[in-house]
Amino acid sequence: ISFRAGLVGNNKTVLIVSQDLSINTLPPALYVVAMPIGQWGDLAPRAVEVLSQVNLILAEDTRVSGQILKSVGILTRMVSFNSHSEVGKAGKVVESLERGNSLALISDAGTPAISDPGGFVIRRVIECGYSVIPIPGPCALTAALSVSGFPAAPSHFFGFLPTKSSARDQELETALAYAGTLIFYEAPHRIVDLAKRLDLKAVGRSVLFARELTKTHEQLIRINAGKCESWFIDNPDRVRGEFVIVLGPSKAKRSSYEFETDQLLAILARELPPSKAAALTSELTGISKRTLYRQLTGKSEA
Ligand code: SAM
Repeated sequence: ISFRAGLVGNNKTVLIVSQDLSINTLPPALYVVAMPIGQWGDLAPRAVEVLSQVNLILAEDTRVSGQILKSVGILTRMVSFNSHSEVGKAGKVVESLERGNSLALISDAGTPAISDPGGFVIRRVIECGYSVIPIPGPCALTAALSVSGFPAAPSHFFGFLPTKSSARDQELETALAYAGTLIFYEAPHRIVDLAKRLDLKAVGRSVLFARELTKTHEQLIRINAGKCESWFIDNPDRVRGEFVIVLGPSKAKRSSYEFETDQLLAILARELPPSKAAALTSELTGISKRTLYRQLTGKSEA
C-alpha cells in the first residue's frame, strides 16, 4: 500500500491511498515527461507514476520542479539539467542508461524540448540505441492551437523569434511566407514589439494572443493584425504573463507562380537532398535558398 499526495483542480493537496506493489519496475529509458503550464492539477497521473518510479529526474530547475513534485509526494532524486549543462551532461545520461537506470526529463513548465532544453540529450540517447518514451501532457503550443479555431494542418511552429531587430524581421517574413497557421512563443517584455511588427507585416491575418493559459487570468484575445499594438497599449496590465501567438492562414489568394514554385521544390526534393533542392529552386525562382530550405524541412540551417 502506498500513500501519495495528489492535486485537485484548484492546486489544493489531497491524500491518495493506492495499492502499488511495483518497485522500480520501469525499463531503462529516458522518459520525457510533460509538466503543467500553470495549473498544477494538469499533472497527469501517469506522469506522477513515472516520476515516482524512475531512478533520477533531470530537471531544468530543481527548485521550481521541487515544489510541484513535493506536493504530490514524489521523493525521487533530482539533478539540474538546463540549456547550459545539457551538452556536458548528455554523456552521463547515456552512462546511466547503460547501467540499467531509468531517467525522467522535465522542464519548468510544459513539454521538454519544445522551446526548452532536451533536444540534444534526446538525440544522443536515440543515437546510442536507448529508448526515449514520451509521457505526454500540457504544452502551451498545442493548448493554444487547439482553441484557436484555425486549421491545425498545415501549421508551422516558430517558437521564439530572434531578439535582434533585423534577424527578428527576417524570421517573421520567412514565417509569413507560409500560407498556413503560424504559432509563436513570446516573452512578456517583447510582446508589444511583436504586436507592432505583426500590425505592419501580417496585414489581413487573424491573430490569437493566448495569454496565461490554464492560470487564473487566462485570456484568449482574438484580433486582426493592424490592431494588435493598440490592444496592449490601451491597458499596460495586458502585457503581463505568458503568451502564445497564433496567426490564422493567409487570406490572400496564392498566385500560380507560388503553386509552381511549391511543385518544383517538391519534385526536386523527391530526387535530391533538401539543401540541393532548395538551392536549385532558388536559382530558378529567385526566392531565397533559406526560405525554401525552411519550407522543406522546418529547419533554418542545412
Ligand atoms: N516547453 C514549454 C511548452 O511545452 O509549452 C514551453 C517553454 S518556453 C521556455 C516558455 C514559453 O511558452 C512562454 O514564453 C510562452 O510563450 C509559452 N507558455 C508557457 N506557458 C504558458 C501559458 N501558461 N500561457 C501562455 N503561454 C505559455
